[in-house]
Amino acid sequence: MHYRSWSLAGTLAFAAFFSSGCAGPRAALSTEAAGDPKLVIVTFDGVRWQEIFRGADQKLAHDPRFVGEEWFEDWVDKPYLRPADRPAALTPFLHQVVAADGVLIGNRDAGECARVTNDMWFSYPGYNELLTGRPDPSIVENDDKSNANVSFLEHLNQMPAFAGRVQMLGTWSLFPKIVNSDRSGIPVNAGFGDRGPTDAMTWRFGRQLLLKDKPRVLYLAFGDTDEYAHGGDYMNYLAAIERGDDVLRQIWEILQADPYYRDQTTLFVTTDHGRGNDPVEAWQDHSAVRYHKLNPDYQPQYNETGVKGSGDVWFAAIGPAVRRDGATTQATGLCAETRQVAASGLSVLYEDWHRFDPEAGAPFPFIRTGDRP
Ligand SMILES: [Zn+2]
Repeated sequence: MHYRSWSLAGTLAFAAFFSSGCAGPRAALSTEAAGDPKLVIVTFDGVRWQEIFRGADQKLAHDPRFVGEEWFEDWVDKPYLRPADRPAALTPFLHQVVAADGVLIGNRDAGECARVTNDMWFSYPGYNELLTGRPDPSIVENDDKSNANVSFLEHLNQMPAFAGRVQMLGTWSLFPKIVNSDRSGIPVNAGFGDRGPTDAMTWRFGRQLLLKDKPRVLYLAFGDTDEYAHGGDYMNYLAAIERGDDVLRQIWEILQADPYYRDQTTLFVTTDHGRGNDPVEAWQDHSAVRYHKLNPDYQPQYNETGVKGSGDVWFAAIGPAVRRDGATTQATGLCAETRQVAASGLSVLYEDWHRFDPEAGAPFPFIRTGDRP
């Protein structure tokens, strides 16, 4: 199925917004006007839509290459396969809270579409697209190079209202390069090593940030999921997803318990790329055809097709800027794309994304746009 782009529809909607003369008398009060809007973005590296919407995969769980037989019953079967609602058993917060009160999209079984628009399907191109609002075809490696592109975090950090109040924490040593900390001035705590599961550390510091520093914009980037998946460890990949979902629940509880954040903060959750599904072992990998054209010796079994489906992603959002009536892709036939995150983040904060980059992907239809009431 071919999906039209949501970006285009968003642009049209935006034009309609202005031409319909919305600059009428300002609403005197809204529930949100009590405080400045805030934004928390969370990513989990390389988490497939399959686990989010279908729960643990039967085939992978039963494959002794990916789950040791001695672990299967207690660590995979009981917690993730036996419950009647397998998706909610793995990611209860996303399903019981976010999907119920916000938006959770990318379920192909329900006809939804969500994807990256870069043609690489791995991390640096994915995070660049997410943070800058468009893919950069010149980024073809996870290189330890400072990003020439300006992220919407850097754009915000240049504004008086946000200066010094934009922060990032990430479980990957390249994040300071991706947001170009040297130039942008955005502090990125990514000092937890290059490899290996370190999400617990990232969250320990992230939690302190939320409780003490209280940034207006916070980006938390977790990475254990990708590490375990590349290692072929499905049990720990599942456990990392479950822990991630619990971190989201804790974040939401912290936000809703704090008068500075409560009912003023929109939480946005996504991933930088998907992973394969066919053949079965392709769940460990992710990369697109163009990457294989440039690197034919890297996993040559994928040279013709790339790792199919690994550009598929998913999006979740909850908070005052989320319009539930804009949620369904099915109703519109539009595809949600990673390049729409930057403009969506700016819109959450009532900032005009055109001033950031008029060619960035437009905000998602489920994010309210327009001026602050
Ligand atoms: Zn990876």
